[in-house]
Amino acid sequence: MSFLIAIVGRPNVGKSRLFNRLSKAGDAIVHDSEGVTRDRQYADGEWYDKRYTVIDTGGFVPEAQAGMLAQMRIQAQVAMDEADVIIFMVDSRAGVVPADREITAMLRQSTKPVFCAVNKIDSPHQPEQYMGEFYRLGMELFPISAEHGHGISGLMDTISALIPKTRAEDVAPPYARVAVVGKPNAGKSSMINKLLGQERLLTDNVAGTTRDAIDTHITRGDQEYLVIDTAGLRRKTKISETLEEYAVFQAIRSIDRSDVVLFVVDAIEGITWQDKKIADVIQNRGRACVIVVNKWDLVDKTISTADEYVAAIEREMPFMAFAPVVFVSALSGQRVHKIFEYVDRAFDQFNMRISTAETNRFLEQALGQHSPPMHKKRPVKFYYASQVATRPPTFLFSVNRADGVKPSYRRYLVNKLREIYGFEGTPIRTVLRGRD
Ligand code: GDP
Ligand code: GDP
Repeated sequence: MSFLIAIVGRPNVGKSRLFNRLSKAGDAIVHDSEGVTRDRQYADGEWYDKRYTVIDTGGFVPEAQAGMLAQMRIQAQVAMDEADVIIFMVDSRAGVVPADREITAMLRQSTKPVFCAVNKIDSPHQPEQYMGEFYRLGMELFPISAEHGHGISGLMDTISALIPKTRAEDVAPPYARVAVVGKPNAGKSSMINKLLGQERLLTDNVAGTTRDAIDTHITRGDQEYLVIDTAGLRRKTKISETLEEYAVFQAIRSIDRSDVVLFVVDAIEGITWQDKKIADVIQNRGRACVIVVNKWDLVDKTISTADEYVAAIEREMPFMAFAPVVFVSALSGQRVHKIFEYVDRAFDQFNMRISTAETNRFLEQALGQHSPPMHKKRPVKFYYASQVATRPPTFLFSVNRADGVKPSYRRYLVNKLREIYGFEGTPIRTVLRGRD
C-alpha cells in the first residue's frame, strides 16, 4: 500500500526538480519494458526505511486547456482527494503571489498534512532571510533548493515520520487479492456486482484496510479471494471526477494492493490513452493481469471478432501481451464466471518458481537454439540463470557484460521462458548482472 505524496504549485516553481529528487534514482532493476509511456507523473521513492509514491500534479492538465489558477485548483483538489501528504511549493524569488494565497486557502480545508516548500533558496546560509513573507501563509515552511538538494532532508525527515512502517496487511496472504480497474464507465461497478453476486459472501462489504477501498472476501469452491473496489466507495468530488487523469491516479491505489488486476476495457470504445496509462501502471508495478473486454453484448459479431480485438490490444499495448483476454458482459453476466478461472491461473503463474537446475537447463537450451549477438565484436557470454523472485517471476542472468545484451535478446529469453513454462497472465522480469 503506497503512501502518496503530492506536489502542488505554480508552473516553474520547481515541482519537477523536486519530483526527480524524491524519485528513486537509478533503479537497480532495469525492466525489460518497451513501448511504455514515458511521461509518468508518479514515481516510487525511498527515504531511509520508508517507501512512498510521489506525484507531480503539475502535469495533470495542459496549460493550454486551463488558466494557471484553474490548473492549480485542480492540482490542489486532486492532492486533497488522493494524497496522504501534500507538499505545496512556492518560489522564494517570486515572493507570495495571489495564486499562492488562493491555493493556501484551499489547502487549509484539507484534512491532510500540508508542508510548504519554499524553493530556490540556493544558499545554505541563513535561509530564513528569504522566507519572511511566506510565514503569512500560515503553514509549516521548509527552505529548500530542489536544484542543489539543500533542505530536502529536513522536509523528508518530517514527511517520512508520517509514513507507517510495513504493516501486517502488506504481507502477501495465501489467496489472490484482485483489483478491478479501468477507465470511467468501462463497467467496473457492474462487474464487481456480478462477481460478488455470484459467489457466497464471507463478510458483507467490510470497510477495507484503507479509507478509500471496499474490500470483500469471497469464496468460490474452496478458493478464497479478496476483491478490491476502489472506485465504488469514494465520494468523488466533481472536479476529480471530470479530470481525465483521475482514473489513472485511482487505479494506482488499487493496483498497489493487488496480486491480480482485472483490467476492464470497453468493447465499444476500444483501447484509449487512458487504458494505455493504466496498463503502464500494471506493468510498471509488475502485477498479474487479466484483460476483461466488457460490453461484448453490444458488439456486432458479424463485423467484429474476438480475434480482431486481441490483435488490437496487442498492437496498442504490446507490453501487455502476457495477459489473457476474456470477453464478457457485466450487464447480462455472460461469461463473467470464466473470469475466476483466468484469475486462478494468473495467480498461480505469478507465484510460480522454477529451480536453479531447471533454469540453467533452460539457459543452455535457449543459447543453443539462438546464440546472443556479438557486442562490439566481442562474444557475449551467459554464465548461469536463476529465478531470484516470484510475484512477479524475476530471472537473473549472469553475463560477462550486462550492456552487451541487446533488448531483442532479452525479449527472446522471456519469450522462450513463456514458450516452455507458460507464465500466462504474469509479467516476467529479467535482471542482467555483469562481471565487469
Ligand atoms: P515546475 O514547472 O514547477 O515543474 O518547475 P521545474 O522543476 O521545471 O523548474 C522550473 C525552473 O526553475 C527550471 O529552470 C529549474 O532549473 C529552476 N529551478 C528549480 N529548482 C530550483 C532551485 O532550487 N534553485 C534555482 N535557482 N532554480 C531552480
Ligand atoms: P464504471 O464507471 O467502470 O464503474 O462503470 P459502470 O459499471 O457504472 O457502467 C457504466 C455504464 O455501462 C452503465 O450504464 C452500465 O449499465 C453500462 N454497462 C456496464 N457493463 C455493461 C455491459 O456488459 N453491457 C452493456 N450493454 N452495458 C454495460
